[in-house]
Formats: sequence, C-alpha cells, structure tokens
Amino acid sequence: MSNPVISLEELSKSYGDVHAVRNLSFTVERGAIFGFLGANGAGKTTTMRMLCGLVRPTNGRATITGADVWKEREAVRAKFGYVAQRFSLYRDLTVEENIRFFAGACRVPGHELPARLTRLLSLTDLKAKRHAPAGSLSGGMRQLLALACALVHEPPLLFLDEPTSGLDPVHRQQMWNLLYDLSNAGITIFVTTHYMDEAERCTEVGFIESGRLLAKASPRALKASFNAKLLEIDVEPVMPALVRLRDSPEILGVSLRSGSLRLYAAEPEKLVARWKEQWPFADLRWVGDRWVEPDMEDVFTAYSQGYDAVLKPTQP
Ligand code: ATP
Repeated sequence: MSNPVISLEELSKSYGDVHAVRNLSFTVERGAIFGFLGANGAGKTTTMRMLCGLVRPTNGRATITGADVWKEREAVRAKFGYVAQRFSLYRDLTVEENIRFFAGACRVPGHELPARLTRLLSLTDLKAKRHAPAGSLSGGMRQLLALACALVHEPPLLFLDEPTSGLDPVHRQQMWNLLYDLSNAGITIFVTTHYMDEAERCTEVGFIESGRLLAKASPRALKASFNAKLLEIDVEPVMPALVRLRDSPEILGVSLRSGSLRLYAAEPEKLVARWKEQWPFADLRWVGDRWVEPDMEDVFTAYSQGYDAVLKPTQP
C-alpha cells in the first residue's frame, strides 16, 4: 500500500449550492480494478471528470502518479484513457477511422499505428466492423470502440464512466472480460457503475453518496463489515408481509429477493427466536427462515441507508 496511482486529498466540487463532491480522500493502488459505486447524482462522474482534468476542483487536490490532475493536466492526460458515459465517437467515421483519429490526437507515432490498430480491433472483437461507420454499430459495439480509442496511446490507467450502462448481459460480460484482460496486462482501472453485481467483479470498491465516501474496501472486506447475521424469511403472502415488516420498529429495512424477504435488523437472532415462539402477524403465514451471506447490494443498502446497527468499521 505504498505506491498509489491515484491519490485524492479532500477533493471537492460545488456547483453553486450543490455540493457534488465533498472532501474525498482515498488512494487507488497500481493494478487495482477500482469500482466507484453510487446512485444517480451521487457524484461519480464529477469525481472522474476532476481526475481527468476536465473539471476544476473547488477545493482539495488529486494526483495521478504524483502529478496534479488540474495544474499539470496537459502532462497527466498522456497517462490515462477515458471512456465517457455518453457516446463520444464520430458517427460518420468508420471504426478504423475513429481509432486513427484518436491516435492522431494522442500523437501515436505513425509507424506504430498499424500494429496497434490490429491489436485493438482484435481485442475488442471489431475486426469484421473495421470499415463500418461508428453510427451504425450497436450500443455494445460502440462502447467497445470507445474503449479501443481510449487505449490507443497505451495508457497505464483507464477511466470508464458507467461503461455497461444500457448494455445487455452478453455485452456486459464481454466488457468485463476485456477489463480483466487489461487488468491482467497491468493496467489500473477506475470504473463507475450503479450495478451492484459489477462491484463484486472489482478488486476494490468505494461507495459514494451525496458526494461523500461512505466506505472503501475490497468486496470481501465490505461484506465482512456486516456485524449482524443476515436473516431471510419466507412469509405468505409476500407483499403484505414486506410492507408490514418494513414498518416494524425493530427492523431497519426489508428487501425482496427471489420471493424471500431479507431483513436488516440489529438483533436478528433474538427476533427470529421470539417469532418462532409467537408469530405476531395472524394474517401472514410463516413458511421458513435461513441465514444468508450478505451480497454487495445488502452492504450498499446498509451504508447508504445508514443502518449503523448492522455494520462495523471496514478493514482494507
Ligand atoms: P449519474 O449516475 O446519474 O451519472 P453521478 O453519480 O455521476 O450520477 P454527477 O453527475 O457527478 O453524479 O452529479 C453529482 C451532482 O452534481 C448532481 O446533483 C448533479 O446534478 C450535479 N452536477 C453535476 N454536474 C453539474 C453541472 N455542470 N452544473 C450543475 N450541477 C451539476
């Protein structure tokens, strides 16, 4: 934990009264796949745009391999590739022309371009679409092309802003397989998402809400930060049960998973023992119960809803 690629120190951004990012301080180590998770409007894009030198911080600073992302933004730009949330390619240019255009903008030496083109087209599985206009590609293929363009100058660091947003499961998987290949090749990856299952695929995850960092640790450590057992029960009919249990004072929250109810409560063992002695809801039928491992959605819910009673501090 000594040689971070990215380092944020009290990084903040306000737009008038809107505090989009508040005092973020953390580091991302070389080789990490760092997943930045948060709901819409949590401040993910603003943070990423500051790190890319596109938005000036209101306070604090950030560095990439020691260089200030704002003051030295011209020099820093060569160190990373950026896949933006929105389609950032030239629709009328072909796949190959787009890559060539970005290569020119990044001053890739001409003699190196043919080999890079071949490698990137093969990596992203776009060889067959080489001469197709970018505007004619499917959403998944466009994202792959955006990735190829972001990699054309062979950066050691890659920023991706919700790269799988709107993609079908097959293309999402393809994108993640590619990210694993890149990570395996030594590239550090900083990726924003609001898909909880994608957090599981990262080596480290940061939760952001209302511009604040709620937690940062490996997925395993985040899941281990649940200090209470997680109770899942089957009750019929399920919807009235969900609503009734949600309103119960000893239950912090309820989520529906595959027809079962997951209960967030400070003392679930006592609760289930009491219910087995006397079930208080005459109109609801108790069918069964089990203890389950929390997943990232449970962890994120607990942090974002402030269920402190079920959490302990995270260990990196
Ligand atoms: P999403 O998942 O929807 O992209 P996000 O987590 O990336 O959300 P941001 O886009 O960083 O969130 O927005 C954080 C907050 O800052 C929001 O309240 C947003 O409205 C506000 N914001 C972002 N950019 C601007 C801007 N240029 N001017 C004013 N407010 C902005």
